[in-house]
Amino acid sequence: MASSIPSTMKGVIINKTGGTEVLEYKTDLPVPSPGEGQLLVHNDFVGVNYIDTYFRTGLYPAPHIPYTLGREAEGTVVKPGTGNQFGLKEGDRVLILNESTYAEYTAANAAKAIKIPSFIKPKVGVAAFLQGLTALTLIREAHKVAKGDWVLVHAAAGGTGLWLVALLKATGANIIGTASTKEKVELAREAGAQHMINYSHEDVKAKVMELTGEKGVVAVFDGVGKSTFDLSMDCLARKGSLVSFGNASGAVPPVTIARLSAKNARLMRPTLFGYIATREEFEHYVNELFGLIESEGIEVRVHETYPLSEVKRAHEDLEGRRTTGKLLLDPSK
Ligand code: NDP
Repeated sequence: MASSIPSTMKGVIINKTGGTEVLEYKTDLPVPSPGEGQLLVHNDFVGVNYIDTYFRTGLYPAPHIPYTLGREAEGTVVKPGTGNQFGLKEGDRVLILNESTYAEYTAANAAKAIKIPSFIKPKVGVAAFLQGLTALTLIREAHKVAKGDWVLVHAAAGGTGLWLVALLKATGANIIGTASTKEKVELAREAGAQHMINYSHEDVKAKVMELTGEKGVVAVFDGVGKSTFDLSMDCLARKGSLVSFGNASGAVPPVTIARLSAKNARLMRPTLFGYIATREEFEHYVNELFGLIESEGIEVRVHETYPLSEVKRAHEDLEGRRTTGKLLLDPSK
């Protein structure tokens, strides 16, 4: 296999930050060489995540320019590097959490790569990986959700939102979700959200209070950010947790901590990587996620698999709120 690795590849880079016009599709990027603790992976499918748009716009600073976007992929190990390979070898089908996956090949950190079990079909692994792990760690660690808890999930028909709904359902929580269209409301309901609110025209706080007997929810999972922060605070129960984990509508402005005292509330701003920093933590949550996909029969929704050359359309659809579930890129096209 190693001998068939080309010297150049397709990929998407940014040379500056901005709108989707800064996404540059290239067909002559150098194929990277795997170094210490890395594996060279040929990517079959690449996950699109909202964080990719933050690096593109500059909300999160890119570590260097030019920079190849992307945070996860599914593919095959084509060449091991040196050092600890965590038991992975050439020919293994793997999922990787690594930067620079908007490309045909990625020199991936072996510590954040895992072999795909045979029961996980193509596309399903990468459609589950970053967003499923995020949802799982949020409900296990940011706020440990118990059976019967009332929780609120914003953007419940989105990629991470549908994972939160599926995993909260498996936990036995009472799920209230929000979404902006009738179709999204229906989709999240089908995924397991017992109560859905269309936050483009319904009074979310009034409905949450009515459903919870005026108590509020013990946790809000809020990846929308700026536009929902105040609403999320309003929907919390006494001693509740506001888990603010993203900025789809923009970054949340600085918060005065005294606001938390009204309800003895907890405010969290976690990232997935803070929960899977060690190999042990990573394997623990990946195995739990794979196990739940199998035992719960979780349906993974792929919105569309875009050719890599159409990456601009993928970002425009995601930022334009036109998607549900997971967006994938096919780096061969
Ligand atoms: P989604 O598929 O959820 O897409 C974003 C959704 O947010 C939209 O579909 C839309 O749903 C909703 N939304 C509300 N307001 C806006 C707005 N002004 N512009 C765009 N979208 C809006 O994306 P992801 O699942 O990839 O990410 C969801 C959130 O989770 C992001 O904030 C992301 O950064 C965060 N995240 C954080 C992680 C972490 O480690 N902390 C890891 C993974 C994701 P609707 O139309 O129903 O309102």
